[in-house]
Amino acid sequence: MDVAIVIGWTGFAMWAAPVSWSRGQSALVGGVIGLFLGPIGVTICYLMSTDHEELDRRRLISRFFKRCPRCAEVVRAQALKCPHCLTELAELHGPEERPRTNRPLQPTPAEPERMPAPRLVIPKPDA
Ligand SMILES: [Zn+2]
Repeated sequence: MDVAIVIGWTGFAMWAAPVSWSRGQSALVGGVIGLFLGPIGVTICYLMSTDHEELDRRRLISRFFKRCPRCAEVVRAQALKCPHCLTELAELHGPEERPRTNRPLQPTPAEPERMPAPRLVIPKPDA
């Protein structure tokens, strides 16, 4: 019975930590609140105010987001148009800052025609 209670309260900590992290708060603090307050702690983490500045800072650390040069909002790195100010971001990409895609930007040159392998011709002996 005691083990079930410990596992249950650890579950509240593991539930509260990512909720707190997604609000831009510390996951450690959220986990501790969930561990000691259980379902009340999880509820507190859901009711936490969202720190948008911290969320933007975390996104900009990753290479999947960047700041729009016009409106300074955080947008996806591969975005071609800013969803906030509708600026065309593709025009602002430099040649080295072009969004990475799997398909090549230039068509690949055709493979050079291969020479046919030389055939071995054995002359027939004169009869
Ligand atoms: Zn913008």
